[in-house]
Amino acid sequence: MRELLLVRYGEIFLKGLNRPVFIRALVKRIKRALQDMHATVWVNDSRIFVSDVPDMDECVRRVTKVFGVHSVCPAVEMGKDDFDAICNQAIAMMSGLKGSFKVIARRSDKRYPLDSMAIGRELGHRILESNPALTVDVKNPDHIMNVEIRDHAYLYVQVIPAVGGMPVGTNGRATLLLSGGIDSPVAGWMIAKRGVQINAVHFHSYPYTSDRAKEKVLDLARIISESCCGIRVHIVPFTKIQMEIHEKCPDEYSTLIMRRYMMRIAERVALQERSEALITGESIGQVASQTMAALGTTDCVVNMPVFRPLIGFDKVEIIDIAKKIGTFETSSLPYEDCCTVFTPRHPATNPKMDKILEGESKLDSEALIEEAIAGIEIVTC
Ligand code: ATP
Ligand code: MG
Repeated sequence: MRELLLVRYGEIFLKGLNRPVFIRALVKRIKRALQDMHATVWVNDSRIFVSDVPDMDECVRRVTKVFGVHSVCPAVEMGKDDFDAICNQAIAMMSGLKGSFKVIARRSDKRYPLDSMAIGRELGHRILESNPALTVDVKNPDHIMNVEIRDHAYLYVQVIPAVGGMPVGTNGRATLLLSGGIDSPVAGWMIAKRGVQINAVHFHSYPYTSDRAKEKVLDLARIISESCCGIRVHIVPFTKIQMEIHEKCPDEYSTLIMRRYMMRIAERVALQERSEALITGESIGQVASQTMAALGTTDCVVNMPVFRPLIGFDKVEIIDIAKKIGTFETSSLPYEDCCTVFTPRHPATNPKMDKILEGESKLDSEALIEEAIAGIEIVTC
């Protein structure tokens, strides 16, 4: 007899002929999440199992974060020939539980002497006898004792919900503009949840932004990496561009012009990384640079789609997700971001494109962008 984890997948079940591809992708992601645990991950009859884990609680914690996993069930695998032993194990797993229950038995081994109905009936009967705090309810039970007879017998009661979504890598790649704030890690997490492999770009304005501010961003990448399966973070030296904008462009437009440079550089990184889209954490009207008109002026400098999954979210809603995915605390640490270092006193909320272009014409854009890109440091989180 041994303990193992039965992994259930949700939406990928719907993928018809592609199903094996999705299962393979999911297995790869689960293996990666458990890399240092030397667990065995295997597929049997379209079901994914994890065994040989030194610490089941930690295993559950990690696997429930893997995109594509719908729920996990800690299960017991045992020999199927001794039916009394199976009943005793089921009784042990139901002891201490209260309320109603039913037994669901499945028999894929059709040579097994008892059929599913008979297994269910007998097990239900013995569980009831052993635990007076339980009653039977086949329509809406509080607990379900699952018994599956395959090459072995598998028993499980507990179903632990997981994150859902689709396995990372099954839906292309995108590049996240990752700041140290609350929004952008949530935005990246949401897109990765749809199976997109993400990498990130962070603009760093040393010495105006400190090494600790950079570390904070890498910590955020590490947190979402548990679900996003490894993130290459490109740290872009941004001080020179910011200084030039600050010196040569109208103050009210400095944030927007800065954001346009961020988009241009992010697009180049995206092309190098073979990404098909950019992701930002913007939401309509959150700040002056995120009015609809302002978003339009940053969108138009790139030729790839810009995904803004938080566009219709209120800050409180974003904070709720940040708490759920574990980034909120780190995002709330009070380190400066390059956006906050050179904030104009009266930023333009209804920007005029000719003013933006006039400001940018004073900068040697191509040289500045190339220099920034040449100075990129890549950290894998
Ligand atoms: P918050 O709004 O919680 O402070 P934020 O990450 O949304 O955090 P904003 O100033 O609202 O920060 O910036 C809007 C978007 O621009 C961010 O969501 C992010 O995608 C991008 N961004 C801002 N600053 C940086 C930066 N230093 N490096 C990379 N991307 C950035
Ligand atoms: Mg924001």
